[in-house]
Amino acid sequence: MLLQVRDLHVEFRTREGVARAVNGVTCHVDAGETLAVLGESGSGKSVTAQAVMGILDTPPGRITGGEILFRGRDLLGLREEERRAVRGSGMAMIFQDALSALNPVMSVGDQLGEMFVVHRGLSRKDARARAVELMDRVRIPAAKERVRQYPHQFSGGMRQRIMIAMALALEPDLIIADEPTTALDVTVQAQVMELLAELRREYRMGLILITHDLGVVADVADRIAVMYAGRIVESAPVHDLYKAPAHPYTRGLLDSVPRLDRKGRELHAVKGLPPSLLDVPSGCAFHPRCPMARDVCRTDVPPLYAVTGTDADRGSACHFSGECLHG
Ligand code: SF4
Repeated sequence: MLLQVRDLHVEFRTREGVARAVNGVTCHVDAGETLAVLGESGSGKSVTAQAVMGILDTPPGRITGGEILFRGRDLLGLREEERRAVRGSGMAMIFQDALSALNPVMSVGDQLGEMFVVHRGLSRKDARARAVELMDRVRIPAAKERVRQYPHQFSGGMRQRIMIAMALALEPDLIIADEPTTALDVTVQAQVMELLAELRREYRMGLILITHDLGVVADVADRIAVMYAGRIVESAPVHDLYKAPAHPYTRGLLDSVPRLDRKGRELHAVKGLPPSLLDVPSGCAFHPRCPMARDVCRTDVPPLYAVTGTDADRGSACHFSGECLHG
């Protein structure tokens, strides 16, 4: 197993109180596998990713419980310099906003080359050659000439390719991509996702794809973990989840997006808003928005029950998953 997250808890101490951003997340990713983590903003998906990468803002953020095992080694027990060594060569991250993640006053060649100089001890000249190779690999046209240019001279899609090249530079085992295509138009989104999927296969990396967009994950993910109010509420292989969601929230998400296999059906948005993490509802946090809520939902937190009646490794944190699945 490449990455195993067990019962992870993260909170933020703010002036208004304690925000429980991650409340017992358990998930795993194998080598060569893509796990999509899906949820509305504030569901805890990006905070989970930052905790795995070791880049959580501390304070105000604090990991209050759980384990993050990377190739069997608990990352939470490592010193900062050991953690830094894991970042880059073990795991790397692609951020949503390439323009603010890249250094505006350094050429992209120098930024890419820096990775090889610092981590691999290459000369400036060799590092520049590797930068050109990487830019070629992520299909940036005229890489030899463009290696001298600055981030603002590239389009949004090309900048995201540079981010991918930076993440790939040290050939990590795991890449975490946090909303990598949100700022791009639909055609460029599809090209960037295709490139990521291709590189994941070629390098046999694990990929965690964080997104709020169901449309982005259908073709690239192997499994999906759906997050709500800091918890995973459903986890399933992608095709099973699309075919028959077991959790009412997942069902609501699927009913709110147009799908080719459901032509002619009306779209329904999930009613209401996600809860404030400063004041998560009692019992099942989804109960104020759930059309199936009953008394027990207001008092008892549902664990991630195994979904029965399916062959796949599936879980759903709903007291009435069976009814949703077959309803
Ligand atoms: Fe809805 Fe209750 Fe299931 Fe929560 S536990 S999703 S409120 S039916």
